[in-house]
Amino acid sequence: AAGESADAGEPGNLAGVRHIILILSGKGGVGKSTISTELALALRHEGKKVGILDVDLCGPSIPRMLQAQGRAVHQCDSGWVPVFVDKEQNVSLMSVGFLLEKPDEAVVWRGPKKNGTSDEHMAAVDALRPYSPLGAIVVTTPQAVSVGDVRRELTFCRKTGLRVIGIVENMSGLVCPHCMECTNVFSRGGGEELARHAGVPFLGSVPLDPELSRSLEEGRDFIQEFPQSPAFHALC
Ligand code: ADP
Repeated sequence: AAGESADAGEPGNLAGVRHIILILSGKGGVGKSTISTELALALRHEGKKVGILDVDLCGPSIPRMLQAQGRAVHQCDSGWVPVFVDKEQNVSLMSVGFLLEKPDEAVVWRGPKKNGTSDEHMAAVDALRPYSPLGAIVVTTPQAVSVGDVRRELTFCRKTGLRVIGIVENMSGLVCPHCMECTNVFSRGGGEELARHAGVPFLGSVPLDPELSRSLEEGRDFIQEFPQSPAFHALC
């Protein structure tokens, strides 16, 4: 979940957050963490303050993408205090990854600490619902199988009354590192077709860009460093 906030530094107080956006997908590995991270950085570049809540219980990767691995979070009277990832303190992050003692430790939670990994979505929606306006961006890859998964995700949003801000098609074509031309390795346009079918906005396609994946690996700011790349144009 990425929230654009009036004061992201106020721990435990979501009332000051102006917009809360859930980044959802039908399955893992399609780019939820990537889109959340780059969306936060793009909003930061527009002068906004953003807080990211990474509720990926099985493989929290946003701390690495923002070079915040191993940073300590602590609790205060009103809850967990997030980590600021930039010196201007415009982007803050709270991740399950900060609660693990070692980076490769698995999350094995039972009882009240865990509401059930299969219904983390539901738990997040329930916890955030009082803080509307709440909306979801659904991320998919172009392949049909993933589009099938995303259809179920859209059904989830409809059943829980969650507004769908729109669909993003990620990994849509491959950017050649030499000439920057984008080739459609897989079929393209599934996300847009699905959006039309479901009557929700299509927000755009983000190509597979080796510079983007390298930036995410190394925790660098892709938005700032690669303004010429096709993925930059898709994200900003
Ligand atoms: P999820 O959060 O849905 O599990 P991730 O955001 O972790 O997925 O993405 C999976 C992998 O794919 C990551 O290693 C990420 O760096 C890479 N990736 C995602 N989107 C892109 C893209 N548009 N260009 C290049 N690499 C990408």
